[in-house]
Amino acid sequence: MELVEKLSILSAAAKYDVSCSSSGSNRKNKPGGLGNAAASGICHSWSQDGRCISLLKILQTNYCVYDCAYCVNRVSNDLPRATFTPEEVADLTINFYRRNYIEGLFLSSAIWPNPNQTMEALLRTVKLLRNQHRFNGYIHVKAIPGADWRLIAETGTLVDRMSVNIELPTSESLKLLAPQKKRDNILQPMKLIGSQIVETQEERKRSRKVPSFVPAGQSTQLIIGATPDTDLRILQLAESLYRQVHLKRVYYSAYVPVSTNPRLPALAAPPLHREHRLYQADWLLRFYGFEAKELLNEANPNFHLQLDPKSDWALRNLHMFPLEVNKADYRFLLRVPGIGVRSAQRIITARRFHSLDFTDLQKMGVVMKRARYFLTCKGKYYGQVPYREETIKEQLLAQPKGKENFTQLSLFSDFDNQYPVQDAISSITGEL
Ligand code: SF4
Repeated sequence: MELVEKLSILSAAAKYDVSCSSSGSNRKNKPGGLGNAAASGICHSWSQDGRCISLLKILQTNYCVYDCAYCVNRVSNDLPRATFTPEEVADLTINFYRRNYIEGLFLSSAIWPNPNQTMEALLRTVKLLRNQHRFNGYIHVKAIPGADWRLIAETGTLVDRMSVNIELPTSESLKLLAPQKKRDNILQPMKLIGSQIVETQEERKRSRKVPSFVPAGQSTQLIIGATPDTDLRILQLAESLYRQVHLKRVYYSAYVPVSTNPRLPALAAPPLHREHRLYQADWLLRFYGFEAKELLNEANPNFHLQLDPKSDWALRNLHMFPLEVNKADYRFLLRVPGIGVRSAQRIITARRFHSLDFTDLQKMGVVMKRARYFLTCKGKYYGQVPYREETIKEQLLAQPKGKENFTQLSLFSDFDNQYPVQDAISSITGEL
């Protein structure tokens, strides 16, 4: 098969994997080497179909011995198959890099013929790139669940980021849709990668000669909407992964109906709106000091689709508001809808010099459309409606006509016609 044909098959096969972001890796080129990995990251954006911009994103092979019901590459699906040799992936990466098409490689694989041989192929590819081609750019590789830890560990010394995809949040969901996958086989390497990252960071503080291990951290992907799991269950899992295995990011991927199967829900379209809310809630966990149990509970296990999670939480906790912006603690400022991390920091700095009023907050980037109901400036409340849950909610839900449709963000989207702009941007910037 021609290389270009393989490329078309194996890049198309990789498009449902959204776990790629290069943030967090910082390595300068070495004499005789090729490429840098930049701290600010190579790819921060995803195109409409979930593909990352600027990484060569491919599978080593799309032959698979597993039969996960939600996956286009499952063994029972009749589609063109191909396998790259390690040399082919290495050559493609170097040639694309030299032509300035890409800034790094995202390499995943279906499982063929077994986890160990798959992981060996990935390791051989990475070794070729790093040792033979002296490629110093960004590499993200998938660790294959069930593969020997020694293979995963060696790969970890050569790449910037690794991820083990959980895909489904519970053992029951795995049993239903991916019966050949075992939850322990997925969680075990995650734990080992996490502890190896921490250990290596400690050792490198003592000696820079210690080789780095997955310096950009590990991530995972969860599919949303293929099983009846609630947002609460998904968010609790993400929270425990951030705490216990030092995960850098969880990526939420709205289930794309790729087949009809009685075990799968009959969805007309991917649940993108739900995915969007989970991304927003994820920021609240990581940067705003929220816990999953504050945002959702058994009585309310799913996010409100019209209200962002922070506004929803604030409305349920009106007794904590309104906050006086000139006195409130940083932690509490972060809980005000419309005040993000940057604007909270600006408020803290600016109020050392003078008391802030409504206009100052607007200039600092506070989204007053949301924040006005939850704070006072110099004792004055600007909400303009009675301070009650129903009236405030009504105002928050009021949207200009024609802006109620939600779709996944795209580099090429006209934001104005799809999302309320601030809401759309929040799942990328985290400002909520
Ligand atoms: S193991 Fe991976 S590639 Fe194979 S069917 Fe399952 S999800 Fe798809």
